[in-house]
Amino acid sequence: MTHQWDTRTGPHYQRKAKVDPVKRRCHLCMGTGMAPCRVCLGKGEVLSGRDFNGRVQFASCAGCFGKKTLRCMHCNGEGLV
Ligand SMILES: [Zn+2]
Ligand SMILES: [Zn+2]
Repeated sequence: MTHQWDTRTGPHYQRKAKVDPVKRRCHLCMGTGMAPCRVCLGKGEVLSGRDFNGRVQFASCAGCFGKKTLRCMHCNGEGLV
């Protein structure tokens, strides 16, 4: 008798249906929770004008206070939505 028993008769894998409301990474800030300041476009400073010599003057951005980034408004800074 060369009958071979199928050895793969173990318990069936049961798929545990995890239906937790998984938070997904924010697509706006890519999960960083921070978004580039829109006022200064991430530069941290804005053009404030020119002095009397014609030199460009920059001022610290009032939107991000010079930090260049702001808390992402989409995910409220969590990086997840
Ligand atoms: Zn700014
Ligand atoms: Zn975000």
